[in-house]
Amino acid sequence: MKENKLQKQMQQEMIDKQIFNQVKAYAFDYLDKSSERNVFPTDEAIGQLTLFDEQLPDKRGSSEEILALLHEVGSPATVSQIGGRYFGLVNGGIIPTALAVKWLSDCWDQNTPLYVTSPVTSKLEGVVENWLKQLFTLPESTVAGFVSGTSMAILCGIAAARYRIYRRLDWDINAKGLIGAPGIRIVAGKQAHGTVIKAITLLGFGKEMIEWVEVDDQGRILPEKIPALDDRTILILQAGNVNSGSFDAFDQICEKARETNCWIHIDGAFGLWAAGAEKLKHLTAGIEKADSWSVDGHKTLNTPYDCGIVLCSDQEALVSALQATGSYIVYGEDHRDGMLYTPEMSRRARAVELWATMKYLGRQGIDELVNGLHERAAQFARELKENGFEIVNEVVFNQVLVACASDAETESTLKNIQDMRECWCGGSVWFGKKVIRISVCSWATTKEDVTRSVKSFVRARKQLMC
Ligand SMILES: *Cc1c(COP(=O)(O)O)cnc(C)c1O
Repeated sequence: MKENKLQKQMQQEMIDKQIFNQVKAYAFDYLDKSSERNVFPTDEAIGQLTLFDEQLPDKRGSSEEILALLHEVGSPATVSQIGGRYFGLVNGGIIPTALAVKWLSDCWDQNTPLYVTSPVTSKLEGVVENWLKQLFTLPESTVAGFVSGTSMAILCGIAAARYRIYRRLDWDINAKGLIGAPGIRIVAGKQAHGTVIKAITLLGFGKEMIEWVEVDDQGRILPEKIPALDDRTILILQAGNVNSGSFDAFDQICEKARETNCWIHIDGAFGLWAAGAEKLKHLTAGIEKADSWSVDGHKTLNTPYDCGIVLCSDQEALVSALQATGSYIVYGEDHRDGMLYTPEMSRRARAVELWATMKYLGRQGIDELVNGLHERAAQFARELKENGFEIVNEVVFNQVLVACASDAETESTLKNIQDMRECWCGGSVWFGKKVIRISVCSWATTKEDVTRSVKSFVRARKQLMC
């Protein structure tokens, strides 16, 4: 047999572990520097990225050089998300134990469609499914699918809804498809997240068929404005508005909606975790009356990316909507096969990190983490107000919307904040008004980080007057 040089080389790398030690040193270097460095990369660091521009090499590369290039050029061009002063989107930090667990799990390199492809992942998915049910107090029949994020979880929840509603109408959606199908209805608040619309359109429905419900000045659905519901309607509610952090009035809305037998989906990407904090769980009261829920691990819970979960109390609907068959697919009789609950077949073992995070935190830790995010957000609002900024929203959870005297001043202040790189926030528009959007979503954010960031806001505004 011809000598296989590539294989030999890789065998050697697995045995001598040199590259893993090399990368461990880089990783530790990154962790040590990331909390103190500029939050957004410098123009210089971003400029260096052109070093990656090349044609696909003909020859094999050197592992050492690849790792060195990535650390020298790649690391400085990252956004320091794991430090305490990143407030963009709704980006969670990373729990150290979960990061460590991910390293081990990366070595396992499990593929997780079936019990037979990874018994340990199958077991941990089942354990986490139960924990989530307990924490969110969901019906006993609830099942969980572990997906890439809430976007995918919403898609799964609405696919289950679509399956169930058509089943009731005696229309097998999997067999007959949507063309020629009877009409169904979708009702959502005017402040529904963009990914809700994405899921609806991916499922063959149209934006124009959505019956939009009026909301109040916090983005909450006005319950009295919900149109008459029926058993061919999907009602979509929200736990945590992506701008204001507000929650719909689940108790009130779901109680009435349930009588009509409509399907209720709650998008709780980051907000559903309020259920785990004693002082905040009033916000999620009544969520158990819905049929499906979407939530992220990688936001409020601070698991590594990517980690989303679809929860559905109608197992048959979810599994039927995500049906998967093949002659070589052997479902476990007494064991959990993850692919029944997800659109994907091959998947990484993301439930392992979710399990580790929940086991590490426990109920008390989740309470402390979630409440801590709220307290830091409230501190932000207080200190910004003391410094003459306007706080536009009620800070009920972890989101703060900030405005200056005019839209122009808000925009310029935000630009200066971003240029200074002391912290990072994005902008948004809230009912026609330009705002600076703060999302406190990392365990790593301390009181000092908040105060330091507020100073950056003040300096950014002052620069406008010079
Ligand atoms: C972030 C978010 C989503 C999308 O979640 P991904 O995990 O980014 O796919 C959906 N809805 C809300 C309210 C969100 O905050």
